[in-house]
Amino acid sequence: MKLWYPYAQMKTMEVQYRVVKAEGVFLHLDDGRKLIDSISSWWSVNHGYNHPQITAAVKNQLDSFPHVMLGGLTHKPAEDLAEKLVEISPEGLNHVFFGDSGSVGMEVALKMALQYWVQTGRPAKKRFLALRKAYHGDTSGVMGLCDPEEGMHRIFSGLVPEQLFVNPPGLDAEDSDDLMHSIERLETMFQKHAGEIAALVLEPLVQCAGGFNMYSPRYLMEVRRLCNQFKILLIADEVAVGFGRTGTLFAVEQAGITPDILVLGKGLTAGYLGMSATLSTSEIFNAFLDDSPLRAFMHGPTFMGNATACAAALESIRLTNTPETFKKIKAIENKLKTDLLPIRSSKIRNVRVKGAIGVIETERNSDLDGVQEFAAKHGVWLRPFERYLYTMPPYIISEAQLGRIIEIMHRWFEQ
Ligand SMILES: *Cc1c(COP(=O)(O)O)cnc(C)c1O
Repeated sequence: MKLWYPYAQMKTMEVQYRVVKAEGVFLHLDDGRKLIDSISSWWSVNHGYNHPQITAAVKNQLDSFPHVMLGGLTHKPAEDLAEKLVEISPEGLNHVFFGDSGSVGMEVALKMALQYWVQTGRPAKKRFLALRKAYHGDTSGVMGLCDPEEGMHRIFSGLVPEQLFVNPPGLDAEDSDDLMHSIERLETMFQKHAGEIAALVLEPLVQCAGGFNMYSPRYLMEVRRLCNQFKILLIADEVAVGFGRTGTLFAVEQAGITPDILVLGKGLTAGYLGMSATLSTSEIFNAFLDDSPLRAFMHGPTFMGNATACAAALESIRLTNTPETFKKIKAIENKLKTDLLPIRSSKIRNVRVKGAIGVIETERNSDLDGVQEFAAKHGVWLRPFERYLYTMPPYIISEAQLGRIIEIMHRWFEQ
């Protein structure tokens, strides 16, 4: 095969699903089948495919210019999007650095944090602390922040910089003081390593590709308090959970906290184009202001601030940030709670729901062998990984379509 596919064993992979058109929640295949996309193309197509308003905004931008470099030049779409992101994000995040993917947005965050400490006279703060079960991207810097034992990059341990890890809450259902214990673990870690930790990096409320661990906003509040106390930056990776996925525009809102750095991606352009935004506080931004050009932030992806991506993002934000959309997200959460949560089987270890995210965790990876073909045969696109079968549907999904997804997940365990 000439085309090398992601996360796929090419020795055995068979191509079965060729998309020729996509509209609303539907993927249309070349064999005439029509599948409901239950996972929004890796959690990005929040408003469905080919949304008339976003498509129009993109076409309109293409008629002016698709892209110009942001080095030395600027344009209204990039300026407007930066302004919009500052306006809608938690109070205190005042500056926006664009990138072209979630991984790059995270690399930017790490680099910013390291340089911040160098320029404020604490160069020994050069390691990162991450949560077990985390996933922060595929590039070499962030690979070292993904779960070192269970994560998909474990083969690289020893090859990428070794970082520190702590257990998040939510891993141990037996421990009724789980939350308290995880806060204690974090505090102990900070006491021991504060002098060398540049930042704590985490996915707020739901750790997605590392195994869909969900935890309480209370933890984030304590995290913020401890980061302040020990002078450790807090980097919130909302690449997956940003833009409404957990029920609020940003997940950190549920804890009422502002991270020092916030990273956005995936849903930012509603799946139209690759783009990330790394937002920072003025405290960080100001540490780069100097007479010496050497102290500038030396970073600049070729396609940063792509005008077409900015146009898609602005329109997507307009669509997301409305009471109707949050009502839809709430309705998705309610239906997942009433219809997905009660599903039981000897193969199921746990079912959990947060916002527009519903997850069935099975006992073994092999419990899900064949589920993708089974679902596709019944008109639903599911793509489980390891022992997790999940849905993160587009917000525009109808109740009946969501019901169909849940029914197929249910039937898999009944058959
Ligand atoms: C997907 C994801 C990334 C990486 O984004 P890419 O656009 O795939 O590079 C980073 N962090 C989280 C939490 C993600 O879910």
